[in-house]
Amino acid sequence: MELDTIAAISTPMGEGAIAIVRLSGEDAIIIADKVFKGVGGKKLKDVPSHTIHYGHIIDSKTEEVIEEVMVSVMRAPKTFTRENVVEINCHGGLVSVNRVLQLVLYSGARLAEPGEFTKRAFLNGRIDLSQAEAVMDLIRAKTDRAMNVAIGQMEGRLSRLIKTLRQEILEVVAHVEVNIDYPEYDDVEEMTHKMLKEKAYYIRDELKKLLQTSHQGKILREGLSTVIIGRPNVGKSSLLNSFVQENKAIVTDIPGTTRDVIEEYVNVRGVPLRLVDTAGIRETEDIVERIGVERSRKVLKEADLILLVLNYADELTKEDEQLFEAVEGMDVIVIINKTDLEQKINMEKVKELAKNHRIVTTSLLEDKGVGELEEAIAAMYFQGSIEAQDMTYVSNSRHIALISQALQAIEEVMNGIEVGTPIDIIQIDLTRTWDLLGEIIGDSVQDGLINQLFSQFCLGK
Ligand code: GDP
Ligand code: ZN
Repeated sequence: MELDTIAAISTPMGEGAIAIVRLSGEDAIIIADKVFKGVGGKKLKDVPSHTIHYGHIIDSKTEEVIEEVMVSVMRAPKTFTRENVVEINCHGGLVSVNRVLQLVLYSGARLAEPGEFTKRAFLNGRIDLSQAEAVMDLIRAKTDRAMNVAIGQMEGRLSRLIKTLRQEILEVVAHVEVNIDYPEYDDVEEMTHKMLKEKAYYIRDELKKLLQTSHQGKILREGLSTVIIGRPNVGKSSLLNSFVQENKAIVTDIPGTTRDVIEEYVNVRGVPLRLVDTAGIRETEDIVERIGVERSRKVLKEADLILLVLNYADELTKEDEQLFEAVEGMDVIVIINKTDLEQKINMEKVKELAKNHRIVTTSLLEDKGVGELEEAIAAMYFQGSIEAQDMTYVSNSRHIALISQALQAIEEVMNGIEVGTPIDIIQIDLTRTWDLLGEIIGDSVQDGLINQLFSQFCLGK
């Protein structure tokens, strides 16, 4: 595949003083040579691959020195995109980095679209689709744990598992083909049935296991959707502020996702909390008043975690009881706040209403109980299991949907075997399972999906 040369500013992970202008494509090195002046007049086209060179970026029209730089030259195919790649490391500020990029663009490169470097890595067969998506997750990762999951996926952990499963299916399909083409070989048929049954069970179990990780995986990836509710004045804003202050607030800039509820991310012991509707708490205090009964019900329903705040220094009211009813059956932590004041709340009654929900007492004013609350949140979602770093997690909704569909297909195969469906009919569901799994790694995806996926990337990746 012959693609033009693209360029973009690519800032390394985790912020830093260095910004990189990255080029990728057939002419990357030629273009870099037009703007780079190495010490002793050294040309980049003559240097060995995977070497770094000191020099200056010069505007050839004005002879002006734009930047002092280190330039890495990496020749195809051993690069991220499998194309020639040049990285110009700039130490100056944003302005000079931009000027370097402009020069590179004048010299023949095209500005990369968001995600285009990763897209090329995919198109050139360097990484598969699930790995490409992992790059995107990595960029957005909100906690170290989320990052580890993304890195695992980027390293191809999920891909390997999916490929193994597909290989297993392929073997069975091959046997079935033989069976259909050469019906006279009875022993082949017998073997096919036995093998089919064994393999179908195995594949179903593996897919089920994988889906079981998806809840935690999704939380890590998207954040635990959390809503704080409670009567006015119980301490909701104080709780929110304490979260935001004590924990590193996570800045989010996911392009293209306009949400109608305001969100704030905080990192609570590795669990990313997506605090939903914080504006409601901050401004009008009353989520129902602000967004209406229907909407607030929807917000509540979609929440992964409810923090229900009560006032220790006040008696329980009808409204408190209604809140308990509204969140029935959900994951709830009951917070009894203002323990520094004289107790008026009836604890027996609270326990009765809370049923098996966890109860935590706090005094946000005196900064007490917050640690315990954080512990309760972490324990609720990651009972240590997430620490198992070598586990394969599914966190991407597209993958989860495909795995669920594949699971359904393989269950149909199993049904077919049980009721004695002709093998060439069973074959259809088997092939479908294979296809669906293939979509995860991009083996059978359509152009439209590819473009849609990669357009979500950040620029320069
Ligand atoms: P919200 O209406 O539920 O958001 O409650 P706020 O967080 O705005 O708090 C209402 C009032 O209670 C404020 O004056 C807070 O300073 C105060 N407050 C919050 N937490 C505590 C606490 O633990 N003890 C005491 N004594 N006051 C608190
Ligand atoms: Zn408030």
